[in-house]
Amino acid sequence: MQTTTAISVIPGVPESLKRIEVVVPEPGPMEVLVDVIRCGICGTDREIIEGHIGLPPQNQQHIVLGHEVLGRVHAAGSGVTDLHPGDLVTATVRRPDRCPSCQAGQPDMCQWQQYTEHGIKGRNGFLAGKFITERTYVIPVDAHLEETGVLIEPLTVVEKAVRQAMLIQRRMAVWEPRTAIVAGAGPIGILGTLLLRSLGLVVYTVARTPAPNIHSDVVRRAGAHYVSTREETITALAQRLGNVDIILESTGASVVAFEAMAALGINGVLVLLSVTDTATMMKVSTGRINNGLVGGNKVVVGSVNSGIEDFEAAVSRLDRFNQLWPGLAASIITHRIPFNDDLSSVLHEPKDAIKVVIEFGV
Ligand SMILES: [Zn+2]
Repeated sequence: MQTTTAISVIPGVPESLKRIEVVVPEPGPMEVLVDVIRCGICGTDREIIEGHIGLPPQNQQHIVLGHEVLGRVHAAGSGVTDLHPGDLVTATVRRPDRCPSCQAGQPDMCQWQQYTEHGIKGRNGFLAGKFITERTYVIPVDAHLEETGVLIEPLTVVEKAVRQAMLIQRRMAVWEPRTAIVAGAGPIGILGTLLLRSLGLVVYTVARTPAPNIHSDVVRRAGAHYVSTREETITALAQRLGNVDIILESTGASVVAFEAMAALGINGVLVLLSVTDTATMMKVSTGRINNGLVGGNKVVVGSVNSGIEDFEAAVSRLDRFNQLWPGLAASIITHRIPFNDDLSSVLHEPKDAIKVVIEFGV
């Protein structure tokens, strides 16, 4: 029985981050053992580290963090015929419960909320030298995507968001989206910007910090426009643009979600992607927002997690990004921290970071 070093926390205990040894069994039937190349750190990980969310696996105190992974197949269990040692792979995060949606293959649409999630809820994550998961949830990644493949999981969040928007908009005989606003310029906002740009939309990415900065630089290199809310509010921007067809909200501020509802154009769709604090209270013009949504046939939809189809779409999308803007996707990974370094960059986001990844040196 071999072990591997992993970065773990005790959920609910702030800053309980530490390295532990976890046992790695041989892969069982239809399972895959993966050597981790690198693993991304995101806002969810920091929420878990701060003790706000997270649930350990049953009968355990610690949970291994990490749900944004790129690795290589180490060994495949019996019955796995299409993956071989050395193949580049990633893995989905959520595992189904027994609800009808999960059983129909859509754990991202879970009805009972009893699903588990690697590195978040009831299952160890991928921030470890090795992990095992079921073949069903392992996604092959083309060998030439080794540099950027760790971005696949965060990219799936916006793949699902845009897929939801497109499905919803099939309600219309004619829908030719031209203009999009992406609220937030963190990793999700930036990947959403690139995705919408790759579809040919005119994209305005809105964030607090005035340009120039590392975020505005990536946005501009993708041919999108960067707007600081210190210089122009979302409301003013929407008025200037005329009709905003799609808004992706990823700021982490619930106030922005309501501002976006009012800024959305006729027949438009707003996809909400942020998890926000629950204490914020504010006055909003409920009548104005309601009348706008009704009178303009507008849709506001929440979207969480992603499905296998979003992972497959993200693999091709990364390829597309590399064709359109060579090197741009890789530049989103601003910090590459060796696994054996001290854990401060996992605990606290470094200054001027877009995406921080932990490198395992495989
Ligand atoms: Zn379910």
